[in-house]
Amino acid sequence: MTFRSPIALTAIAVCCLLGAGSASAAAKVCTLEIAGTDAMQFDKKELSVAADCTEVQLTLKHTGKLAANVMGHNWVLLKAADVTAVSTAGMAAGLEKNYLPPGDKRVLAATKIVGGGQSTQVKFSTSILKQGEAYMFICTFPGHSALMKGTFKFG
Ligand code: ZN
Repeated sequence: MTFRSPIALTAIAVCCLLGAGSASAAAKVCTLEIAGTDAMQFDKKELSVAADCTEVQLTLKHTGKLAANVMGHNWVLLKAADVTAVSTAGMAAGLEKNYLPPGDKRVLAATKIVGGGQSTQVKFSTSILKQGEAYMFICTFPGHSALMKGTFKFG
């Protein structure tokens, strides 16, 4: 016999329907946008992500004209408690490392550095975030985090 049994076919159909259903119910990508300017400012002081978002896709636009080596901006997500240490470590890393300490676990998510007219994105899972934890976003270009910072709320 070369025919497959009806029982086996039914089992395949059930497996795959269930799989597709649970995947679409679980995944929710939430998008955020923020802009950086030649005046060393982000256009938002606060970003928030709802607790049911499973992933965040953030777009950073540099709306100015100045080059990345003069007025570069990135978007870096940190625990509030890590802001000072990571911005200091980032400064030492230099532009070619996007002013981020390589492999630093305190960096929860980060874009590369962009210059005027450019934009960049980062996508990350909210499984790295805890509700109730205090998070901040900063730009780690040297000297920028004093002005370029804001609060990031999850949940
Ligand atoms: Zn900046």
